[in-house]
Amino acid sequence: MQLECETCGASLRVEADKRTAVCPYCASPSVVERPPAHDRPLPHFVLGFTTTKESAQGAVKAWLGKRSFFVESGVKAGTIDAIRGVYTPAYLYSAMAQTRYAAQIGENYQETETYTTTDEKGNTVTRTRVVTRTEHRHLEGQHATYVMDVLVVASRAVPNAELEAVEPFDLRTMRRYTPAVLSGWIAEEPTMTQDECYALARREALEKIGRDLSGFMPGDSHHGLTYETRLDRETLELLYVPLWVLAIRHHPSKPPFRVLINGQTGAIHGKPPLSWVKITLAVVLVLLLIAAPFVLAAVRDSDPPGRGGAARPAVPAAAPGGGSRPAPTGGAR
Ligand SMILES: [Zn+2]
Repeated sequence: MQLECETCGASLRVEADKRTAVCPYCASPSVVERPPAHDRPLPHFVLGFTTTKESAQGAVKAWLGKRSFFVESGVKAGTIDAIRGVYTPAYLYSAMAQTRYAAQIGENYQETETYTTTDEKGNTVTRTRVVTRTEHRHLEGQHATYVMDVLVVASRAVPNAELEAVEPFDLRTMRRYTPAVLSGWIAEEPTMTQDECYALARREALEKIGRDLSGFMPGDSHHGLTYETRLDRETLELLYVPLWVLAIRHHPSKPPFRVLINGQTGAIHGKPPLSWVKITLAVVLVLLLIAAPFVLAAVRDSDPPGRGGAARPAVPAAAPGGGSRPAPTGGAR
């Protein structure tokens, strides 16, 4: 059956007996049944789950345990039973890239120079030292490469950056898609258009080319690298990637907290919501600890004169009167 989340827009395919009351991506209860859409493209490939639900739950538990004490308490209390395995749609992009680039290449060389200085006795002396200098030269050229294995999300429910955070997937285990693979799992149909995914993929491809170019620049340093890339022979293939998803609604008015776990490698990503009450209390506590010695010192400084003010005059007053000519001593003699 086909379900749609009215909150995040996920379009989920689940077996009738596995129907879910809340969206696995955002924990929203606004999940409604929809007739299947027939215009959605079918995936070419699928990457299977190789980790179990138990190991994913264990990973989340350990991960949450390591998060700071500042996480909202609702999150730790949130049940990790809600974790779901979801086949998330993604596109695999490849293209030929022709790049023209230009940069300033720096070559270091060493030179001995003489300089004058004053020695310990105050005399002006001439000495030599070895200094490193950089010579810059202009470099430009062309670079052709085949960009492959750029993976971008095709689901509106998961931002591409979140998928990137748990990549890479082991693409060698990719199999042809058959509907039987999805049996027992939740699968999401692509909710982003191919054009949107092309745009995401091209951006990722260009960033990768930039990193590669920067990596193979000669010389000891470079700056001002610019490049222009033409992408052609582009392909975009739909595949399902395995994700363990845990969504927790820790607060009714805030967006849900979500953890994604790569269903192959166990790589985990999520940003636990921080509790501002706990953070504020901790800041106040730290300030108190920092201030404590000064406060104590101030109390000590101000306190004795207060008490001493009464005590000190009493001592000299007592001394001339009773103590300067110790009558008891004299009298004892
Ligand atoms: Zn949702």
